[in-house]
Amino acid sequence: MRRILWFRRDLRVLDNPLLSLEGEVLPIFIFDIDILSNLRENDRRVTLIYNALIKLKASLEQQGLNLALFYGKPLDVFQWLLSQGNYDEVCASGDYDPYALERDRNVSHLLPFTYLHDTYIFRPDEILKSDGTPYQVFTPFYNRAKSLFNAEHMRQFFPSDQKLISFDYAPLHILQATRHSVSVLKLEAIGFTPQILTEAQLSSPEEKLSAFAEKIENYSKNRDYMALEGTSGLSSDLRLGTLSIRTLLRWLLKQKKHGIDTEPFFRQLIFRDFYAMLLYHFPYLSQQNFRYPFKGVPNEAFFHAFCTAQTGVPVVDAGIQELLQSGEMHNRVRMICASFFTKNLLLPWQWGETFFADHLNDYDAASNILSWQWSAGTGVDPQPYFRIFNPYTQTAKFDAHAVYIYKWLPQLTDITPKILHNEDLLAQLSINTYPHPIVNHKVSSHHALTYFKSIQN
Ligand SMILES: Cc1cc2nc3c(=O)[nH]c(=O)nc-3n(C[C@H](O)[C@H](O)[C@H](O)COP(=O)(O)OP(=O)(O)OC[C@H]3O[C@@H](n4cnc5c(N)ncnc54)[C@H](O)[C@@H]3O)c2cc1C
Repeated sequence: MRRILWFRRDLRVLDNPLLSLEGEVLPIFIFDIDILSNLRENDRRVTLIYNALIKLKASLEQQGLNLALFYGKPLDVFQWLLSQGNYDEVCASGDYDPYALERDRNVSHLLPFTYLHDTYIFRPDEILKSDGTPYQVFTPFYNRAKSLFNAEHMRQFFPSDQKLISFDYAPLHILQATRHSVSVLKLEAIGFTPQILTEAQLSSPEEKLSAFAEKIENYSKNRDYMALEGTSGLSSDLRLGTLSIRTLLRWLLKQKKHGIDTEPFFRQLIFRDFYAMLLYHFPYLSQQNFRYPFKGVPNEAFFHAFCTAQTGVPVVDAGIQELLQSGEMHNRVRMICASFFTKNLLLPWQWGETFFADHLNDYDAASNILSWQWSAGTGVDPQPYFRIFNPYTQTAKFDAHAVYIYKWLPQLTDITPKILHNEDLLAQLSINTYPHPIVNHKVSSHHALTYFKSIQN
């Protein structure tokens, strides 16, 4: 059996089902032009992926395997590979968003395609209602997930260097665009500038896990506080697959054995599965609402103010600064920003989803799309359209000393938290380096409610 092992969302050797196969294999990764052509040349994620590939390549080399890197359209790469030799099948771990499914379907017309389950705890068709239809509400899905969860979901796949034989494969690196082989792939060669990453972004999943071991006990108490760093910071590793979900579950089990309540964290992992399951069964949700015909009211000036951190609402602008400067954003701030965007500014959620998609290091189509639909009140979960976050009371509660706001908006350090958390007091100030709020929360939320009600009737 001659197999192509296609690495995508599983950029690791440890606990990778792809490496549990036998026979002759060619491991590959494709820098997909269809995806890369939409990115900025300074996109941080390309550097994150590149770093992960360098590590993956070195680890595979220790197993006697050569990772071949390609730059091109996946279909062209497979056509070219087939023109060079015979292969029996391509194996890859499941990738379930609409683009990925379509891409894989096309490749499967060239070569038998075997999916190995890896990315999520459950396969997207594994947890269904008793009538065989997908769940639409999180809590029953979560309860069912807990009852179905068993050791199988944590099983380890051991890579076996005895079984795998590498092709004598040359050239090692191919740039599909030029068809020139180069000895070392550089990001500049595919049009990207390597980005400087923070210490946290450079740390390995193992290092993040050991730091999180000190925090997990207080996860549910601290996770909403923007300046506390009380969460795991693992979303990019889960996105790229530099950490296996089963490794994380086994680690969680160890914490549980030490008497720690791991349930709140596990619940968030199930949210990730829930959203993947929803997008798999309802791919139209990537653009269309599940409920309510809200379209939002396009307004370029509001959109520009939001995307440039110039709304005059401190926590929203601080969140956007965090996103632009680091590619990250605290979960509570994501919720506040998305609520402000879709309710106070009444902008179409699709615009906000695209903006986040362009910048989030951990961008995951399912989590991002469904979270935006949740915020807009248009998704499957019964988050009613009339629930609107008040950004001022949110920060009074979750950033009482304005540590988060000061970090990302240093021009506000002279303004006391009391003023920053009070819309009326803040509006009375005139700050040279910071804009006046573009909307008043009370007025705009009242306006939003009237708008939503009128559309419903
Ligand atoms: C508008 C909006 C957009 C979002 N877009 C994304 C996205 O593109 N990619 C993404 O991974 N998450 C997204 N989230 C969910 C969440 O904000 C991040 O997963 C979380 O902030 C990552 O930080 P962490 O790894 O420290 O999380 P932790 O709190 O440590 O959680 C552990 C893991 O559980 C998963 N998780 C946690 N919360 C959620 C959630 N609400 N929904 C789904 N999975 C969750 C993530 O994989 C995370 O790494 C979004 C949330 C909102 C409100």
